[in-house]
Amino acid sequence: KSFEELGLSEDLLKGVFDMNFSKPSKIQERALPLLLRDPPQNLIGQSQSGTGKTAAFVLTMLSRVDFSVPKPQALCVAPTRELARQIMAVVNAMGKYTPVKTDYAIKADVRTTVPLTAHVVVGTPGTMADLLKRQKIDSSMVKVLVLDEADNMLDQENLSEQCLKIKNHLSKERPAQIVLFSATFPHRVRNFASKFAPNANKIEL
Ligand code: AMP
Repeated sequence: KSFEELGLSEDLLKGVFDMNFSKPSKIQERALPLLLRDPPQNLIGQSQSGTGKTAAFVLTMLSRVDFSVPKPQALCVAPTRELARQIMAVVNAMGKYTPVKTDYAIKADVRTTVPLTAHVVVGTPGTMADLLKRQKIDSSMVKVLVLDEADNMLDQENLSEQCLKIKNHLSKERPAQIVLFSATFPHRVRNFASKFAPNANKIEL
């Protein structure tokens, strides 16, 4: 399959080709058709880093955003600030030809005075949960929640707790699409994932 066949918008295709990706990686080819389905479905994906999972969930987030609505619509959490920054770079690169606005939910970078108006917010679990709790992030329009490197987050008791808090802050009436990626799936991660992302499609590479 080609990127053109995956149902991405023209603007996103331009972003993808700008990054010199000529064809989807295996995880992208398998995950994107499931991730972009309507109505949205949850996904649990096992994939090592280096396989292209970041682009898969970034393209999903960017595809779900209504750019005319200046509110957070896609949230992505990662176990470290460094990884959050890397993900953000991919959001901005792939979204280069869209009007996407992005912001961090990382302690040092948080604007504490205004609610975030970015469409896509990338951060670490504690800060993301805190901003939601204090309503600095308006959760009413959040359509997709991504957890990257879930296994690394579950290694730290506190981070999995923060991830649950994040999910609990989202709308109960219109549940967000939950996308969870992990490099490994030991029992503990599997249990957490099936509760966190109920009825998910599953992909293991
Ligand atoms: P990731 O597994 O998301 O960390 O991606 C690993 C690396 O693969 C990154 O440097 C990406 O830029 C690159 N990459 C991801 N998808 C593709 C693709 N379809 N074609 C070529 N390179 C890619």
